[in-house]
Amino acid sequence: MTKETLNKIIKILTWLLRITEYLKKTNYGALDEKQDDDPRNVPVSAIVKSSKLPSEYINPDVFKTEAYNQKRLGICVATAQTSQMELLYPDKDFSVRFSYRMAKYIDYLKYKRNFEGTWGHTMARVHKDYGVATTKTRPENFDLPHWLYIKFNFTKQEIAEAKKYKIKGYVWAYTDDEIKLAIKKYGSVSTTIQAKSMWNNAKGNHRILLVGWNKRGFIFQNSWDEVKRGDKERKEQELLELPYSVKKWNSIAYIKSDADKKKIDNHIKKVEKKYKYFSAYEAKNINPKTMEMLDKARGFAGIPFVITSGCRTIQKNKQVGGKIDSCHLEKNKCSAVDIRVRNSQERWKIVNAGIKAGFTRIGIAETFVHFDSCKDTRHPDKVIWTY
Ligand SMILES: [Zn+2]
Repeated sequence: MTKETLNKIIKILTWLLRITEYLKKTNYGALDEKQDDDPRNVPVSAIVKSSKLPSEYINPDVFKTEAYNQKRLGICVATAQTSQMELLYPDKDFSVRFSYRMAKYIDYLKYKRNFEGTWGHTMARVHKDYGVATTKTRPENFDLPHWLYIKFNFTKQEIAEAKKYKIKGYVWAYTDDEIKLAIKKYGSVSTTIQAKSMWNNAKGNHRILLVGWNKRGFIFQNSWDEVKRGDKERKEQELLELPYSVKKWNSIAYIKSDADKKKIDNHIKKVEKKYKYFSAYEAKNINPKTMEMLDKARGFAGIPFVITSGCRTIQKNKQVGGKIDSCHLEKNKCSAVDIRVRNSQERWKIVNAGIKAGFTRIGIAETFVHFDSCKDTRHPDKVIWTY
């Protein structure tokens, strides 16, 4: 048998093993369900706390792999978020590693569900629960193939050491203003963008680390270049500009201090109690009367309500093509909400529940239902309109 034939057989066997692993596991938990279904790229939000991740996906005590170049899926996340840790522990030199089990999970999300982005969340969770190892015992050879690299497991000592460098928690930031606030307060924000929005021929989604901003956009550190990259190059990477127009999602800030964590936890507790189905962030600036009715309607409907538009400034209203006297406007006390609609069943449930909850001004569009509680001479009562 020739060497090539042997290599081919090994490759096929490896793939068969991987496929078998996938087949064995059909239920992957609720994490991706929620995020897949509900991307929350809504304009009404603020920094919010993280949701839970199933623990089976965040066990780093299995196989380990190195971020030796950009070939492996998820490397950009490991790179961006390890750098994020280094900003919190500036005197430390962390290596970029992630578990083989996590990598498999991400493979599943990407290829089976065509969904990316949870990876950043996974990494944040690892940094919260397990910390991060330093580079001391790791070989500095970035040309090694993946299969060889995963043989370099963490030692017990390294795992113990990693525990010293954890984060207290992490929060999500949704708008550019929230990202700026988070950078200011916590040093950096890692975020996902569409790779082609920055590099013409690049495919898929890409994770980068936002570390500042200027007039034109955010300043970020990238994890790839013409050459293969390792930890050493990562630190020397020049900073680039990300125009504000580029869409960002799954933006996460790391929290290191107890005081910051406490402040955020208290804030979240305080604001979360107000509505049964909506966080205060979702309800941000929206008229409380409208929100109370919407909360009731959500209960009647029994399906998730995603607010796709809430309170609007004059500029924002112009931008989305709203009416000059729109009830979404601040001058009309932000008494309107648009709720996402994806099919006719959902539309019926939402409209029916809205009427039951007492809304008397309803707009029905292809992709959303508008409810408002504007009641004055300029906004007639008991109307349903279309767009
Ligand atoms: Zn509306």
